[in-house]
Amino acid sequence: MIRNYLSAEQLELWHRMVGEAGNIVVLGHSGPDGDAMGAILALTAYLQGLGKKVTPITPNACPDFLRWLPGVEQVIFFRNKQRKALKALEECDLVFCLDFNGLSRLEELSGSVERCKARRIMIDHHLDPEEIADLMVSDPEAAATCELLFCILHQLGAYEAMTPDIATCLYCGLMTDTGAFAYNSNRAALFHIVGMLIAKGIDKDKIYRNVYYSYTESRLRLMGYLMYEKLEYFPEEHVAMFALTEEEMKRFNFIRGDAEGFVNLPLQIKGTRLSISLREDTEKPLVRVSLRSVGDFPCNEMAERFFNGGGHLNAAGGWLPKPIDSAVLTARQAIKSLSKKE
Ligand code: 5GP
Ligand code: MN
Repeated sequence: MIRNYLSAEQLELWHRMVGEAGNIVVLGHSGPDGDAMGAILALTAYLQGLGKKVTPITPNACPDFLRWLPGVEQVIFFRNKQRKALKALEECDLVFCLDFNGLSRLEELSGSVERCKARRIMIDHHLDPEEIADLMVSDPEAAATCELLFCILHQLGAYEAMTPDIATCLYCGLMTDTGAFAYNSNRAALFHIVGMLIAKGIDKDKIYRNVYYSYTESRLRLMGYLMYEKLEYFPEEHVAMFALTEEEMKRFNFIRGDAEGFVNLPLQIKGTRLSISLREDTEKPLVRVSLRSVGDFPCNEMAERFFNGGGHLNAAGGWLPKPIDSAVLTARQAIKSLSKKE
């Protein structure tokens, strides 16, 4: 029931590349989510178990609600520790790319990774992978990178010795990329994996509470404010949209990760096809866009066409290099283009 992702040649290549590497960097995408962090930490722990020196790196910090993950203190956030990250890249002989399939998703880290001479292995579940690695394991049908990684570890014979910490990290990725198994998760094989992770002694209820029940009071009030004051609804197109400004973030003591999940909320309105959120970036002069849909509405196509981004059918994102007011106008145009097409 657990799929073998690696062909015989790929398996041999894996063993050769990992076997020859003493010094490994494990990378996740910018704005690392539960799947990226879970995969990075699970793979890091596995490779360390083999006696490798491993440095997990992400371009910027993960949200507070992931800071409990076992091993999280090892992760180098490039934006905070540039020199350490660059040194690790210089010294490594193998790089893993997890939960992204184009170097642009590394943002300010992409140039350094491009220049890095080490060989690369990519494990990812996003559509349309770019040729960024010597060994690429890509399956857009997988619910999460952590699902792929579980299958690969299983194929490598590493299930038996899998620690509860590794299982916890993998479960976190499966849970967060499926909205706690609310979408993109209707496959028996996935729940077979969940069963095998639970058999390793994880506490799935605690993982749920750690991720979803660990916010501040002001985050809950910000959520209420956004839904009450800021939500725009387009009944003809069955689309919801809201925008969050930096001033509002300050007012509600915003911390990294506080906006997580907000974009899903308007999907609770019966008949809604699409929800769009816009958020002023606090570090760069741009607006971050998130899209979520129900059914067959292609968020990724809209993200590509209007927001310089991409993603999956039901979850995509992008950005706009303009002030938030003009970004709102662009989003309204994108929404209006839907009714024109029909
Ligand atoms: P989120 O809305 O959680 O930031 O992103 C949802 C999904 O959209 C991500 O898993 C990723 O697949 C995609 N995504 C987000 N931002 C970008 C972007 O700037 N470029 C591309 N190509 N995809 C993105
Ligand atoms: Mn993912």
